[in-house]
Amino acid sequence: MAYMQEERVPPLLTRIHQACYYCFKPGTDDSALKRCSRCRRVCYDRCQKANWKTHKALCSAYCEMQSDIAALDQPSGEPTEDVSVLNDRANKRVQSKMRILGLSLGRELTVMERNLIGWEPRCLACARTEEDIRAAGSPAASLKPCANCRLFFFCSEEHRIFAQHAHSHVPDPDSARGLSQCEVNFNIRQDSIVREVMGGSDEPVRWAPERVKRKWESLDGRTWEGEHAAELQDVGLPPLAVGPFLCSATDGLAFPMTILWALEKLNEGDAWTKKAILTIHVLGATQEELMRAMQFEEILHRLPTVYKLNLVLIGPEMKTVKAKDGTPVVMDTCPRCFRRGRQRVQYHYASLYHDFVASQGSAYTTPNLAIAFNSGCGSEETESWLPTIKSLVEKKVPSVFTAFNRDEVKLDRAILESAGAVLLPGLTGLSPWASQVLHLEPNKVKGFYSNNRFIAGVFI
Ligand SMILES: [Zn+2]
Ligand SMILES: [Zn+2]
Ligand SMILES: [Zn+2]
Ligand SMILES: [Zn+2]
Ligand SMILES: [Zn+2]
Repeated sequence: MAYMQEERVPPLLTRIHQACYYCFKPGTDDSALKRCSRCRRVCYDRCQKANWKTHKALCSAYCEMQSDIAALDQPSGEPTEDVSVLNDRANKRVQSKMRILGLSLGRELTVMERNLIGWEPRCLACARTEEDIRAAGSPAASLKPCANCRLFFFCSEEHRIFAQHAHSHVPDPDSARGLSQCEVNFNIRQDSIVREVMGGSDEPVRWAPERVKRKWESLDGRTWEGEHAAELQDVGLPPLAVGPFLCSATDGLAFPMTILWALEKLNEGDAWTKKAILTIHVLGATQEELMRAMQFEEILHRLPTVYKLNLVLIGPEMKTVKAKDGTPVVMDTCPRCFRRGRQRVQYHYASLYHDFVASQGSAYTTPNLAIAFNSGCGSEETESWLPTIKSLVEKKVPSVFTAFNRDEVKLDRAILESAGAVLLPGLTGLSPWASQVLHLEPNKVKGFYSNNRFIAGVFI
């Protein structure tokens, strides 16, 4: 299955010297894997030869980058507990490396190349990487992983003592369940190993419950486990598998559940749950939503009197869809919905939302909800988001924006407000329907992100 290895982006453990960069098999202990003796950035079990043809060009450029970066000012080795200082140190270094590597390759970096720089192991106390420490004159530098999670690193025993307590024993502000960073890391690691064992897929489970609720039940105070654990046991999953399976499924279920959560918050009473047709506009839609189309059926399954769900996916990435803009695509539903004649219809428009609104002219009708998943509107493509947000405000569309992490929330809220949105109080922060599939932040020393992890803002 060599083709898969060439096509798949090497997963997390390959970026931190704990799995072979070619076959992705985790090393049982550190000695089982050998670093590439030239760049020292990737590891292999017995696959170095097989990967050499592909790795060669990057390896040379990487070595060149390392000597260029060694000539620059070296980052401070002072330990600090200030996360923003640490993340800032890491990010500055990452940006320089990416720039230098890009120049030497003479092209934009690929995802794999960005990943090698973004997820390079860094000391949790001082933010330096092995390359940084080597550049500062210690050729034998090696970072040691935390003995429990093995995902965070220390450059010396002194720095381990400095950072270990906070890492292992203080609840992380990004953990909904009050876990420490080390515990969250441990789960991330288990998840990545489970996926490799289950056939090496990067794709989370695409599962949605088959049951159809008899009537709408408020989501207030509900949790992923409370809502789904029993259903999964009914499906026949062994008890030990329920947790990891559900965790994986939340990555996609976060999309429909966030829609339902927002509809409940934005509507008074339950008249909205009894509408015959529900229309949702997804702004800045991407492959993420296309891939998870089936899981949106959970909306029908929680709103039994709705007979038609219109999902309108709008965004430049929709140009990959074969159907012509605006053509209704009737999606396959489950047998039960099919027998009752219930429909899930998808529309695609390969345009920016404000252009879509303009093109509709007087035919534009306000949807029940407009939602932008993980938009990053405050940090990326801000100029094109601004007129989109303005048109939502002008048309008084019930709207919600989600974000990957806390930093994005701040930036997103600033942009939403500057475009005239009056953000509803109380509806921001860690989402109860955040994906539980966490990822380590790239380009930083600490931090996690996940799909729809935060509600950035809700407005009408
Ligand atoms: Zn291998
Ligand atoms: Zn190399
Ligand atoms: Zn250190
Ligand atoms: Zn740890
Ligand atoms: Zn169904």
